[in-house]
Amino acid sequence: MIITNFSEKLKGLNGFNMAEKGNFDFLYNPIKEKMQELVSHINYTTYIEKLVPVDVDGRYIVLETPTESFAKYITGTLAEKMREAIIKADVGLTDFRLKVEGGDGYAYNAPDEQASVPSNLDPKFTFDNFVVGKNNEMVYAASLSVANDPAGTYNPLFIYGGTGLGKTHLIQAIGNKVVAEKPALKVIYVTCDTFVNDIIDSMLGRGPDARSKGNRLRQYYRNADVLIIDDIQFIENKKAVQEEFFHIFNELVSKGKQIVISSDHPPKELNALEERLRTRFSGGLLLDILPPNFETKIAILKRKAFDKKCFVPDDVLTFLAQDSGDDVRTLEGRLTKVIFASKLHEVPISVSLARSALNEAVSEPGKEEITPESVISAVASYYRISKNDLVGKSKKKEIAIPRQICCYLMYELLSLPYITIGKVMGGRDHTTILYARNKVEDMCRVNDKIAKDVDDIKNIILKK
Ligand code: ADP
Ligand code: MG
Repeated sequence: MIITNFSEKLKGLNGFNMAEKGNFDFLYNPIKEKMQELVSHINYTTYIEKLVPVDVDGRYIVLETPTESFAKYITGTLAEKMREAIIKADVGLTDFRLKVEGGDGYAYNAPDEQASVPSNLDPKFTFDNFVVGKNNEMVYAASLSVANDPAGTYNPLFIYGGTGLGKTHLIQAIGNKVVAEKPALKVIYVTCDTFVNDIIDSMLGRGPDARSKGNRLRQYYRNADVLIIDDIQFIENKKAVQEEFFHIFNELVSKGKQIVISSDHPPKELNALEERLRTRFSGGLLLDILPPNFETKIAILKRKAFDKKCFVPDDVLTFLAQDSGDDVRTLEGRLTKVIFASKLHEVPISVSLARSALNEAVSEPGKEEITPESVISAVASYYRISKNDLVGKSKKKEIAIPRQICCYLMYELLSLPYITIGKVMGGRDHTTILYARNKVEDMCRVNDKIAKDVDDIKNIILKK
């Protein structure tokens, strides 16, 4: 498809007629000619002549090299000259890519694509792994259509909503899709923070090249085909940056480039935003992303569990989705905690594991975290016995009872599975722990001394 479009374009532009599909010598020959003038004879015959033009990708010619080291040499030594030759050859191309014969992907990418790597797109955010629900179906559809046809539909696309609801995910998905499907387009993703700092740096910049640095920066943003700015609310109160952004915005839109913006609030609620920017922001498509409902939360959890290659039973999904608040980030965090606990303690994922993994009562902020180790220490020092004895084999009453109390407290305070308590208590079977726990519970009912001991130790641990 690219080939056909391209040949059509070229016919019009340069009078070429592509007789054979798939043969790109007609493009590479004039480039070779220029290279002959630009590089040494030996470089020309050893390298340039050996390259095979195999494709055209947007504005780049794709050249195949026989080996990896061959590609490295060209990248390291001849790339500049190659670019110069491509421009001078005037065949409608701007740069090149290298492919190693039989290999996957490109061994060398044109530098303005490399520049879009610091565009900071995270490949994990895709449309495929974004779960669509009532809360986000509109904004999902709009994002997809922007990605399929940048600047063709909604410009700017302005997405707003609370934190953790998927704004960054969606706008990065737009970027990733464009990069994957239209590699010739330059996508820049930037957080507003970075953008603000960039602009401010360039404005405060001193020294002889400050001006040109500033210009280069402006140039960088103005060269975008798709400019994605995340969390635009951070531009509030920054007049000079707003001014700069206003110009970049206008220039890009007038050149038919796509702008995508995310924000925690709609433009009309952003304080200290210049009126003309507010108007611009509202001039395209304005959509909000809402908190997911229960069903969507479940669907998201299922998807995340699948991505992590973990099986999570339905009752656990329900447990996780209940009372989890609105935020997808928190929801995901709950799932991650439970999966982690399951791996750590080597027990299957269950509601009771989830409950204990998420039990925050034992780790209130500000307090030192309670650990199995701290419970052991507290019990040992309370009864003036050594920690080794406490987890050891002695059956003496003065040690066996504190040991059972220790197991009981670990269960009560840390909600650890019996199997885990057994491990930290010197490698005991989980049935022993269960027995100890029941025993201490019973003793507390009938033995005031034990009940008081247990209470005291609990308080010591909790007050730490
Ligand atoms: P925001 O930018 O709105 O604060 P993010 O895009 O960073 O939120 O989303 C937070 C987390 O939740 C991310 O890990 C993201 O992948 C995930 N997430 C949010 N919404 C969805 C969804 N609909 N489907 C899948 N994952 C989602
Ligand atoms: Mg975000």
